[in-house]
Amino acid sequence: MSSNLAGRHVRTQTSSIIATTVFFLVVALVLTGLMAHVVATMTRSANEIDDARAIRASRAAIAAFVSRLSATTTDNAVWDDAYKAIASPGAADWAYENWGKTSEDYPLYDGAIVTGPDRSSIVSAYAKGKPFQPSAFFGEAFYRQINTATDFGQAPVINFIKTETGIALIASQPIQPYRAEGELPTKLSVLSFYKQFNSDVLSTLSNEHELEGLRLAAAPEPGLLNTPITDMKGGVIGHLVWPSKAPGSAVFRQVYPFVAAAIIILVLFLAGVLLVGAAEARRLRQLAQAAIFEANHDSLSGLLNRHGLLTLLEDLEGSDLLPPRLYLVDLDGFKAVNDAWGHAVGDDLIRIVSNALIACHPEVVAVARLGGDEFALVQVGTAARQEIEETILALFAEPFKIDGRTIEVGASIGAAARDADIEALELLRRADMALYRAKENGRGRAIEYDPELDRERQRVAELETLLKNAIGNGAIEAVFQPLVSATTGVVTGLEALARWRTATGNISPEIFIPLAERCGLIDALGGHMLKTSIEHAKNWPGLALSVNVSPVQLCNPEFAAEVISLLQELDFDPRRLTLEITEGVLMTNPDQARRSIDHLKQVGIKFALDDFGCGYASIGALRQFGFDRMKIDRSLVSALDQASNGADVLKATISLATALQIPVTAEGIENIRQAAVLREAGCDQLQGYLIGKPMSALDITSLLHEQAA
Ligand code: C2E
Ligand code: MG
Ligand code: MG
Repeated sequence: MSSNLAGRHVRTQTSSIIATTVFFLVVALVLTGLMAHVVATMTRSANEIDDARAIRASRAAIAAFVSRLSATTTDNAVWDDAYKAIASPGAADWAYENWGKTSEDYPLYDGAIVTGPDRSSIVSAYAKGKPFQPSAFFGEAFYRQINTATDFGQAPVINFIKTETGIALIASQPIQPYRAEGELPTKLSVLSFYKQFNSDVLSTLSNEHELEGLRLAAAPEPGLLNTPITDMKGGVIGHLVWPSKAPGSAVFRQVYPFVAAAIIILVLFLAGVLLVGAAEARRLRQLAQAAIFEANHDSLSGLLNRHGLLTLLEDLEGSDLLPPRLYLVDLDGFKAVNDAWGHAVGDDLIRIVSNALIACHPEVVAVARLGGDEFALVQVGTAARQEIEETILALFAEPFKIDGRTIEVGASIGAAARDADIEALELLRRADMALYRAKENGRGRAIEYDPELDRERQRVAELETLLKNAIGNGAIEAVFQPLVSATTGVVTGLEALARWRTATGNISPEIFIPLAERCGLIDALGGHMLKTSIEHAKNWPGLALSVNVSPVQLCNPEFAAEVISLLQELDFDPRRLTLEITEGVLMTNPDQARRSIDHLKQVGIKFALDDFGCGYASIGALRQFGFDRMKIDRSLVSALDQASNGADVLKATISLATALQIPVTAEGIENIRQAAVLREAGCDQLQGYLIGKPMSALDITSLLHEQAA
């Protein structure tokens, strides 16, 4: 999985953890809410049920009070003795003896009043054993009370009534015999008992009906239950009030510690879930950030990587900063450092270079590492391109010191400025193109992108196509340049050279050979050249054939086997064949070169080291790789004409080679003087325009005929 995907994966996980935690919290809160609702409803319902019971009990208490006074009144009013006595002249005394006196400390009533049949005369009126004025004590309501109690057999009229001292219950009933015998007068005296609604009554009712704290109040009181008390006209004259027992609340108070404990545990649990969820989300967020960092950075240097660089360039595109300039920096000679000192030193070097690049210029806002030894710098600002390039190149002016080693590397730079409408990828491509050109031009160069580079690349691409076709259709031909014996001047061999003739002119092998190497056509081209030149050489028996081989071919592990099978196929003696190779391959890929050379030498093929003296190859390398011949480069031969010590160096080189028994060919001989010097210096074979220019196979055949003639 790429780091980018990892980042996305972790972000998905984080969201799902957050979602799960939130879901869990919501479920827990909903459950808590439901539980709280259940407890509150149970508490309230229990309270309401008991309150309803208490109100019914209060009404029953009032009814009990009423029925008790009602029964007492009937017991006294419906009484044969009383009827007779009240009708007699001693009525007042009788009433006092039986009722007035009793009222002093009798629990069932507080006062007794006897009114005459006229409803206005008071026969007897006693309260708590003492005479009193009913009209003053009860007011007008007293007469309304007794006026409603007139008829025989009627149940007592009983009402609550306001008194001077509070509220009383008054019951009135005509005084009458137990059984009506004979004619009764239409109007009868009335006996009224009243009982003050006092604390004794309240405490009795409270005890009998489980109404704790029952008392009288003028108006309902907040927080207390109440039952109104109405007078005979239906007006409210007071209220029985008492506190609710609230049994639900009482139960709630009992279970409250457990509920509280449960809530605390739940809260702690939820807090724990939240903390764990948050910690996990934080951990995943950190992972995601790390993954994103990893996706955008190079692990060795800590710099941005290619993806990070492109993202940054895209971000800059939307900003109002100046358009950036991109510099691609490629280290020259980094591979050699790795090969010589190992990868650990190579890694150290990359880190040191990275740090140096980051700090090289204040306008360099970002540095990325794009590959092994390739870096990119982003400049935002007004500093000139040359200033930045010089700053970068200056970093490589001095060797680097790593673990006591002195390490020298250079740098090539390709720069590209961002035009208004080019994308990050295009900017990178342009800088890359410029870098490619800088490297082509040699080490330590800086090149800025120019559209001409694109056009040139286009031309190269077209040329590639043409070359491919030319190889395919045989348009690449072989010409042959004679190699003659230095002593006799007789042609001993021929060097095959590739020629590409096109409608618009000839293209030099100096151009199309490197092109074929770069675009992967060299194997085909080399194979074609080998085949054609062998086919021609078969017409020139006894002569050696030299064919140039590119280092790229030699590094192909299949190369040796292909050459051998071609020789077999064409039935050509391998001992007649010399392969000419340049020294480059001995430096870049010595192991594979050696394997190919050894393999081919086994079947009798010879090897010549071409262009000796223009590079770094030493005479030691000649021996080491088992070369059969050395060819002195044309540049050394032509240097003979410029008066200098060139001749001495050349002579010394040739004599060293001959001392090692390696024969030497001098190439590029254009005049007799050169030929003489080289012959004298010990070259046994000469080649050059003086002896013969490269020519067609046909011309070679005629030349050989002339020579034979
Ligand atoms: P080279 O192998 O060193 O070939 C000698 C080059 O020097 C040839 O150039 C030849 O024409 C030129 N030359 C010979 N004598 C004289 C002289 O007296 N004066 C001057 N000025 N030049 C002389 P050419 O044919 O242009 O080939 C250039 C190079 O291209 C060759 O150098 C060889 O390295 C490469 N090349 C040519 N053909 C092939 C091929 O078939 N395969 C490969 N791999 N390389 C080839
Ligand atoms: Mg050659
Ligand atoms: Mg040469």
